[in-house]
Amino acid sequence: MDKTKRTALVVGAGPGGSTAAFYLARLGVDVLFVDKETWPRDKICGGVYLSSLYPMLKDMGCFDAMYAQQACNIETMRLIDREEDYIVLDVDPFMIAPRRFTDDQIRRAAIREGADFMENYEATSLIMRKGVVKGVPGLYHNEPMDIEADVVIIANGSHSELSRQLGAFVDDPDMTMYCFRAYVDGVEGLVPNQAEEYYVPMGVNGWSPICTTWLNPHYEGKQAVLGLTITEKALRDSGMSSMEFYEYWKNNTKFGQARLKNATLIDKFRGWRLPGSRKLAQSVFPGAILIGDAIAAAECAFEYGIPSAMVGGQIAAGVIADCAEKNDFSFDSLNRYQEQASAALDPGLQFNGMFRDELLNKEEVMKDFFRWVKEQPGYPHLSFSGSAIKYMSEVLGLDIQVSDNARSQ
Ligand SMILES: Cc1cc2nc3c(=O)[nH]c(=O)nc-3n(C[C@H](O)[C@H](O)[C@H](O)COP(=O)(O)OP(=O)(O)OC[C@H]3O[C@@H](n4cnc5c(N)ncnc54)[C@H](O)[C@@H]3O)c2cc1C
Repeated sequence: MDKTKRTALVVGAGPGGSTAAFYLARLGVDVLFVDKETWPRDKICGGVYLSSLYPMLKDMGCFDAMYAQQACNIETMRLIDREEDYIVLDVDPFMIAPRRFTDDQIRRAAIREGADFMENYEATSLIMRKGVVKGVPGLYHNEPMDIEADVVIIANGSHSELSRQLGAFVDDPDMTMYCFRAYVDGVEGLVPNQAEEYYVPMGVNGWSPICTTWLNPHYEGKQAVLGLTITEKALRDSGMSSMEFYEYWKNNTKFGQARLKNATLIDKFRGWRLPGSRKLAQSVFPGAILIGDAIAAAECAFEYGIPSAMVGGQIAAGVIADCAEKNDFSFDSLNRYQEQASAALDPGLQFNGMFRDELLNKEEVMKDFFRWVKEQPGYPHLSFSGSAIKYMSEVLGLDIQVSDNARSQ
């Protein structure tokens, strides 16, 4: 059996893991990052890279390539309630790009910066000694291979068995979003550079605080990324499967009929359970830091998880570089991650949680928000996040901490 020993091992080369590997390499730390897939690999996703990530992507040297390959630049968002009333608001323009390409650009940036990478390596569990993570056993091209490290960053996504082994994984059915995606052709009526989010239509049992169907224009013409996101609980209450839900929406709503009457699915409807949160969970364990979906760090109103994963990766790299310099990988030293990451991520997670709980989840409030927005001077040329923050603080009287993450919606 092969063995190898590194200072830092990153499991998972998604946006979180590759960002961690990039900054570890930049800070001079010996790092190996591994992924079970053969790269480039696709990821079922809406492909939204919020503009709050642009400075980091530029710093990593991958922004230009990603931006050049974007399918669409979103400038406005149409929110449609269950009675099919809607509002249109401006967003900080953000790109939609295929993850097969963009995740690969971030991974390549880490390699260029000096990180070692191994694909087709699947970590199967954690090597534990006296309660401390010491590395992973795994399969490299199906052959057993252990990798030991002073610290392991667990960045292997929402199905992370390593996170479950540590007892770290957060699995709250109210926060678990069922997310599905397909590409569709022949969509009609979409406005260029405008994303549409539809909430549970009338006639469906169950009420989901998060968007249920979204359409993002994709490349030229009539292609779109079609998504379905619904909480586990609401989908159960609806008594429908995800495909039945989609069919219902397509056939029984005004927008569904208008947009999709001549549409065909280009690929299959595919998806997975995405765990979200309102606050970063305990992410540090002796010998390990968990980032991104492995610790349920996606925000819970719009299912954006790439920012949390990348910001987490960058912060983890800084903390680990400091530990490496002092040759001190004790829990207390690693746990500085918790404070720094919570300070960076919690305001955005909390804002989105509040937006979901106090606005999207309350039908009457959502209706009132629509009425209020339409009465504001300048509508429809108003900022989405600015309007949401103003309404929530001035009309609902909520204590809002404004953050870059919240602002970037
Ligand atoms: C339908 C849908 C739409 C979404 N839309 C958006 C969006 O538009 N914008 C947004 O910001 N977020 C979106 N999200 C959320 C986003 O996809 C995730 O939050 C994000 O990918 C998390 O990044 P990550 O690096 O933590 O994990 P991942 O991107 O999941 O990467 C994990 C990596 O680990 C690898 N891996 C897994 N297990 C192992 C193992 N045992 N050993 C080695 N490697 C392993 C995987 O191959 C993978 O490459 C969406 C999610 C869904 C389901």
